[in-house]
Amino acid sequence: MNPDLLLDRQRTFFATGATLPLSFRLEQLERLRGALESHEADLFAALRDDLHKSERDSFLTETALCLTEISFIRKRLARWMKPKRVPTPLTHIGSVGRIYPEPYGSALILAPWNYPVQLAIAPLIGAIAAGNCAVVKPSELTPRVSAVLARLIGDTFPADYIAVVEGGVDASEALLAQPFDYLFFTGSPAVGRIVMEKAARHLTPVTLELGGKSPVIVHRDADLAKAARRIAWAKTLNAGQTCVAPDYLYVHEEVKKPLLAALREQANAFYGSDPLRHPDLTRIVNERHFRRLVSYLDEGRVVFGGGYDEATRAMELTVLEAMDADSAVMQDEIFGPILPVLTYRDLNEALAGIRSRPKPLSLYLFTESREMARRVLRETSFGGGAVNDAVYHLASPYLPFGGVGTSGTGSYHGRASFDTFTHYKSVLHQTSRFDLPFRYPDSKAGLGLLRKLMK
Ligand code: NAD
Repeated sequence: MNPDLLLDRQRTFFATGATLPLSFRLEQLERLRGALESHEADLFAALRDDLHKSERDSFLTETALCLTEISFIRKRLARWMKPKRVPTPLTHIGSVGRIYPEPYGSALILAPWNYPVQLAIAPLIGAIAAGNCAVVKPSELTPRVSAVLARLIGDTFPADYIAVVEGGVDASEALLAQPFDYLFFTGSPAVGRIVMEKAARHLTPVTLELGGKSPVIVHRDADLAKAARRIAWAKTLNAGQTCVAPDYLYVHEEVKKPLLAALREQANAFYGSDPLRHPDLTRIVNERHFRRLVSYLDEGRVVFGGGYDEATRAMELTVLEAMDADSAVMQDEIFGPILPVLTYRDLNEALAGIRSRPKPLSLYLFTESREMARRVLRETSFGGGAVNDAVYHLASPYLPFGGVGTSGTGSYHGRASFDTFTHYKSVLHQTSRFDLPFRYPDSKAGLGLLRKLMK
């Protein structure tokens, strides 16, 4: 279907009210589950073609997360959809307040390339659950996944309900020119700014899931073996092309040596002594990103790693030290398997360094001290994160996921996905049995009484 006509067609379908009943929403979520399962082999093959992702990672970080979201939401949807009765103040005696969850209408979902299935489908689950129509635009940088998604959605839903539009910036711009009722964007802060400006023209409400430099702090009392295992996993998962990957490391100077030794050991345990030829090592998505990452390797001293293969765009976990604060590797979001390491003696130095940057999407702290954890959580602002883990928080449907400041606005997953795609319509149901007179110009009630009532 011509993308320019999609919104009109979806508006017409939405206006029939077909998307509103609980039964319809549950059925569509079930259809989506079925489609993800029946297209799993195609999705995994496309993920391998586009990113060289292993089946294990494709399942764990792409389809499983979507399937879990569908189950979680389906179980709770009936409860979430119920209008909620709320109290009214004394001045409103006789009336009842109710909040009605309603869908926005047609939502536009713009997705990035790094988890091309999950980041297109997880927001769609929220849009469907909340009763919306939706148009999804996958990233042009993972074209095979984009094609499978177009087929998967096309085989499962009519385009006047859910549609996929493939393409790059042009397709995005054409969609952004239209007055969608909601806009859900996942991508870089730079494009997020453009998208928000375009949404502002139609006053379309937005959720922006962006990125940034997420720090990881390892304190001297941390369980170093577990910290190393979890950090190495979080930084090599998807070759570090994860919005919540640890970007740089602050380690207490007393434990730097053993931590880096343990990190090296873990990298070896995961991908062997010849990681560039390991069959399950995810590759860098394209030449441009690969070049960018290779250029960072000269901006510090390589502690270990540093190997890459231009022909396959494979890169091993690389730890860097002695970077300049204004080097690109310390300014850009790295989005690859390179981990610059900074040390601190006093935690204040690390916290001041983190606070001097834009608010990150995630922060990770490894410590066995609850007091230390409380302090770091109190003194830093970030989208979400973990104490004694990294990246794993994203996979809990009980934790809303999103950024703050330049790392994003709004959140989703689980209940937050339903809330994001829902407008909460507040309605006062007034009684006709009587009419409190004090608000009217002809009321005898003096200011004194009004002041008392309004307290
Ligand atoms: P990107 O911003 O380049 O692209 C995202 C989407 O926007 C794509 O669909 C693309 O076609 C479209 N787009 C690109 N330029 C555009 C323009 N000028 N106008 C309109 N649309 C445009 O992001 P990316 O490179 O695909 O993804 C990497 C970034 O995304 C990183 O910054 C990462 O941290 C972030 N990210 C965030 C999350 C999150 O959940 N917060 C998840 C994954 C990635």
